[in-house]
Amino acid sequence: MRILIVGGGIAGLTLAALLNGRDHEVLVVEKTKQYIDRGYVIALWPAGSRILKGPGLYSKFELASQPLRKYVVKDRNGAIRGAI
Ligand SMILES: Cc1cc2nc3c(=O)[nH]c(=O)nc-3n(C[C@H](O)[C@H](O)[C@H](O)COP(=O)(O)OP(=O)(O)OC[C@H]3O[C@@H](n4cnc5c(N)ncnc54)[C@H](O)[C@@H]3O)c2cc1C
Repeated sequence: MRILIVGGGIAGLTLAALLNGRDHEVLVVEKTKQYIDRGYVIALWPAGSRILKGPGLYSKFELASQPLRKYVVKDRNGAIRGAI
């Protein structure tokens, strides 16, 4: 099957990686001419990170990441609204 994925964000590229090698012709198109490293930290929660097992990238992710040991949500006044 020929599959066109519009958007080379994390969703598009992950889908392309999952479809890779499954007898599909996959084309990803991306409107941005250049990816820019903005230096953000990105938190991958278990529901999101486990998808990396599909394309065989989970062990690389574990090696390159740091566990999130504490997560605190505060309101605009600094009062804690939730914590893990
Ligand atoms: C500052 C910031 C911090 C964040 N931190 C986190 C975090 O810590 N953890 C987390 O899980 N999420 C985080 N997010 C959210 C996360 O970035 C998004 O949920 C995620 O990027 C969505 O992925 P996506 O592939 O669906 O969309 P996008 O990343 O938006 O990718 C869509 C892509 O499609 C391209 N596109 C759009 N229209 C077209 C078109 N017509 N033709 C071709 N290409 C097109 C766009 O250029 C883009 O590259 C953060 C977001 C921001 C802004």
